[in-house]
Amino acid sequence: MTDVKGTTIAAIATAPGEGGIAVIRVSGPDAISICDRVFRGKRTLQTSPSHTLSFGQIIHAGRVLDEVLAAVMRGPHSYTGEDVVEISCHGGSFVTRSILSAVLYAGATLADRGEFTKRAFLNGKMDLSQAEAVIDLIQAESDAAVSLSVNQLKGRLSAPIADLRQKILHLAAGLDVMADFPEEDIDETTVTETRQSLYNMIQILSTIIEQGDQGRLIRNGINTVIVGKPNVGKSSLLNYIAGTDRALVSSQAGTTRDVIEEFVRLGDLRLNVFDTAGIRSNAESIEAMGIQKAKDYITKADLILFVVDASRPYDEDDQRIFSLLDQKKTIIILNKSDLESSWKIPLSMQEIPQVVLSAKYKQGIDALEQVTEQLFSLGSITQNRDAAIVNLRQKQAASQARDALKNALKTLESGVPLDLLSVDLRIALEALGTITGESVSDEIINEIFSRFCLGK
Ligand code: GDP
Repeated sequence: MTDVKGTTIAAIATAPGEGGIAVIRVSGPDAISICDRVFRGKRTLQTSPSHTLSFGQIIHAGRVLDEVLAAVMRGPHSYTGEDVVEISCHGGSFVTRSILSAVLYAGATLADRGEFTKRAFLNGKMDLSQAEAVIDLIQAESDAAVSLSVNQLKGRLSAPIADLRQKILHLAAGLDVMADFPEEDIDETTVTETRQSLYNMIQILSTIIEQGDQGRLIRNGINTVIVGKPNVGKSSLLNYIAGTDRALVSSQAGTTRDVIEEFVRLGDLRLNVFDTAGIRSNAESIEAMGIQKAKDYITKADLILFVVDASRPYDEDDQRIFSLLDQKKTIIILNKSDLESSWKIPLSMQEIPQVVLSAKYKQGIDALEQVTEQLFSLGSITQNRDAAIVNLRQKQAASQARDALKNALKTLESGVPLDLLSVDLRIALEALGTITGESVSDEIINEIFSRFCLGK
């Protein structure tokens, strides 16, 4: 790990471009003295109490660059845990960059991507999962994703993981004691308690992993594929959800030949929608290409919207498409509800959720939203204040830990000496440590922080 102690870093913390104000953030042992070299106010920043604002000018090479407000936050009570000065200036990018240069000239080093948050992590201000939540928060695209990231930032993931690690350590300590006295008989209560404890921990991890999958859908969006025969209203449905006239709508069968990708918001959820060429059995070659793509997308999809024209009877072509959908989460869209219905639910589809709507007349989207939330049990997670997002890295670590605990349980059941369990427990401990950052390599840490933008 690079030694961060000693250097003082600076960067523009606000988004690039023109804005009302911009903030230059400076952090490190010399943050305050460096800023005093360019700041002229009624008092120096050195003499300003912590967590106060001082009004003054930034002067460089005898020239006044801007009038600013400088906030002084002395460590450890700051974002990074070090002395921090934040200079709020007028938001023009030229002014902002000149002030940054002045601060660099006065002795600061330009910060790397994510370096402020990395320092916060290294100084114990937050654990790794909280640091990752900062990135998620910056990148979050929906209200639900924001609230999940905020939860994680508050430590909603760290707390249960730290608790699990504690429990595992406790178990391991107990086993070590037993290893020291091998001749003693291990009583049944110990075995039962150990089994129960392992079992509980596996359950907790399973919940975390499951919530993680849901969190991923909320944050990254639900990959959705719209399928159906030509002319049933797939493009119209996409336009309806997206609220634009993006896809080509035509009353001639088979006009949507390409796969159109669209990011749309459905209530609290985000859908990444792929509208595919109409799938039908006697397709011409160009359509056939579209169909192959559609099949590929179906394989990757989280959700299928299977559109049928409810004003016509269900036919073999519908059935053929339906048979492609496999076990995927599917919603049947009974479109053209403004026309008289000639549709009867075939037996094979009775279990599948259905939504009646009219894409053309833009009616029925609320029902689609509700059914989608139910299908992914997302209603509970968007409202669950305790849930946190688990990203892929964290999920893999949690799964690894769960596997190790399952192995431990097996070892226990097979009646081998209990101290053999400690290997599995150690693996579980390591894996969980990578979530909070206790046992994680420099490489992973650097990888995570490089995903940040500058100034964060
Ligand atoms: P696609 O080939 O499945 O993409 O179908 P389109 O979206 O191009 O629609 C085919 C035709 O059905 C167009 O003439 C649409 O205006 C019409 N259509 C789509 N949705 C509805 C609907 O809800 N009600 C009625 N009456 N017509 C619709």
